[in-house]
Amino acid sequence: MNSNEIFSEKQLKKQIQLEEIKLLYGGSRFSYTAAIVIALIIYYVLKTHVTSEYNLSIWLGIILSVMLIRSIDTYLFTKSDLKEQQNIKWRIRFFVGTGIAGICWGLLPWLGYSSDVEYFAFIIVCLVGVIAGSLSTLSYRWETMVLFLLPASLLLIFRLIVEDQTFSKATSFVLAVFIFFSLSAGKRIFNNTQQNIRLRLEADNREHAIELMHQKQALHLQNTPLAIIEFDIDLCVTEWNKSAESIFGYQRDEALNENILRLILPRDSSLEAEKLWQRLLNYEAVIGAVIENKTKNGEPIFCEWFITPLTDDKNNIAGIAAMALDITDKKHNELAIMQSKDEAEKANQAKSDFLSNMSHELRTPLNAILGFTQLLSFEKQLTEKQLSHISEINSAGNLLLKLVNQILDLAKIEKGHLQLSMEQVNLSDVFKECRAMIAPLAEQKGLTLNINIETNGYVIADYTRLKQVILNLLSNAIKYNKNNGSVSLMVKQKENDIVRICIMDTGTGISEDLLQEIFQPFNRLNAACHIEGTGIGLSISKQLIEMMRGKIGVTSKLNEGSDFWIELSGKLNITTAIERESQSNYSNTILNVSSLSAQKILVAEDNPTNQVLIKSQLESLGYAADLVKNGQEALNKLINNEYQLLITDCNMPLIDGYQLAKTIRDRGNNKLPIIALTADAFPEKRAECLKAGMNEQLTKPVDLETLKTALEKLLHQ
Ligand code: ADP
Repeated sequence: MNSNEIFSEKQLKKQIQLEEIKLLYGGSRFSYTAAIVIALIIYYVLKTHVTSEYNLSIWLGIILSVMLIRSIDTYLFTKSDLKEQQNIKWRIRFFVGTGIAGICWGLLPWLGYSSDVEYFAFIIVCLVGVIAGSLSTLSYRWETMVLFLLPASLLLIFRLIVEDQTFSKATSFVLAVFIFFSLSAGKRIFNNTQQNIRLRLEADNREHAIELMHQKQALHLQNTPLAIIEFDIDLCVTEWNKSAESIFGYQRDEALNENILRLILPRDSSLEAEKLWQRLLNYEAVIGAVIENKTKNGEPIFCEWFITPLTDDKNNIAGIAAMALDITDKKHNELAIMQSKDEAEKANQAKSDFLSNMSHELRTPLNAILGFTQLLSFEKQLTEKQLSHISEINSAGNLLLKLVNQILDLAKIEKGHLQLSMEQVNLSDVFKECRAMIAPLAEQKGLTLNINIETNGYVIADYTRLKQVILNLLSNAIKYNKNNGSVSLMVKQKENDIVRICIMDTGTGISEDLLQEIFQPFNRLNAACHIEGTGIGLSISKQLIEMMRGKIGVTSKLNEGSDFWIELSGKLNITTAIERESQSNYSNTILNVSSLSAQKILVAEDNPTNQVLIKSQLESLGYAADLVKNGQEALNKLINNEYQLLITDCNMPLIDGYQLAKTIRDRGNNKLPIIALTADAFPEKRAECLKAGMNEQLTKPVDLETLKTALEKLLHQ
């Protein structure tokens, strides 16, 4: 660890300064004592040989006073606490004291002057000795050395120069050289000392940091929710922390030296443990393995393990370090979530199955209601009132059929059974068909319908499903409009080849808070109850548009109207128009008897109502039909009679529609056109029918127009 992480450079500098001042004061005691002794010896030796004994006494007095004051200063420093010692005043006091001491020693050759060369030489030797001695105690700080050395030596050199004797000049030169070398030696010592102090402090800091880290780790280990366990290669526990005690229930003393597997593994996990053990013996760490363990009470718990092999200095495995986290609650929650997800999925599946079965079952009676209503409406002797009742039955039946189809769509989408056939869809075709279908509704409500059917452009979509969505939006715009309002359909090219189709109305509008819920299934918001609806049209529209990789949205203002929009890939204003065979070939010629009539058709249908209906429908189209109740009867009929076409239900007793078609084809009769009539609207039903050898599949309820077209197409062939 880098000590700087804990001690910054600034802090380190402060520490170094403190260390320096401590060392300076620390060494001062010895140097003051030595200075006092030397001063006394000098006085004793010189007192009878100096020019003025009085001056020498003054010098002695000064130097002893300075030493006394400095000793008191040292005493005060040693008595102060660490924080106080960091105060700058101690440095200043020491520096000033050192400078004064230097001057005092420099005064010796002046106040203790002796004309006797021998004694003057003694003074020089003493001073050189004091200067040399000071190096050891003052070199902790370069400045203190200079402060002492310079006044002491310069005053001596100056005295020698004043003396003006041949030997004194030479001596002063030698002294200058000595001072220069002493200072440079002192500087080197200072640098080394500084370096040593720095290194020592850094090492101390590092040690301190490591110790802190160990303390922290110990604290973490103590308080961690992780069980920390160590065991040797005989699987005997060597370490067992507090969390291990609370997770597994064994106290440290109970666990130590016990076999870890016996302590915490249920018997039936031994195979798993063996596998783990092998991994560890291969020096592999095990991270995040979830193992079922047991507590002292035998309760099963789940733990997540992090296990590492411990090696000795020869890299042999010496033991195992393991950490375990009790995840029993998390595991139980996960299991509960998975279980409820499973249940929700099953319930959803059951709902989808129910919806599709129900809509299938509803189709059969609807087939009869709508079929017979249509046949009835062509009766010639009906009164106005009867015709109006028939029209009511027809529109109620159609509404029911719409609901059934929507529910079926929803179920198909949810089951992922809805297949789209994506192509370039000519917008003008779709708009033309939609306008034709929606115009009577708009007229009834006195609404102005603005749909530009000349739109030149295409979008990438499923033709039928796009039409379904636009019709839904247009019929909503009409349903939820005010009398004499308007409905407009507009198209815009957006950037990146995106076409936006907008359907705008001047109706009731939708409030901001309800807008959030508008695409939720079965949510009719606040629609007035006299307006017919199921609340699933928009939800289906959204899913269909998203399946076409498009977007759908709405903006609305209460009492002003709504603007529904769809965005799909596509282009407007293209030069070559995409032609599509118009599908809205509605004609009033349904009951024009086909030119191909008088051809004989065999019908296999087990439901008596449907039998009567299909026979009537065929006869109204001018065909003659024979009825049978199942596939077996149909096969018998085909042996002795000539039929131009076979219409068969799919689900029948004895032999069903598929088997019937297959048997006919197996017998080599490939010419007879076969139409399947099924209540199932799933696309896979159609595929199944074609696979069994049938030529066409019609979904109940089948209207006369569709039946006529299919018959003519197949009989032509
Ligand atoms: P439905 O029309 O059969 O009720 P939808 O899913 O098509 O179902 O619409 C859901 C609800 O959104 C409607 O019941 C109606 O309250 C509201 N809504 C849809 N279109 C409009 C519109 N153009 N103006 C006002 N409200 C609308």
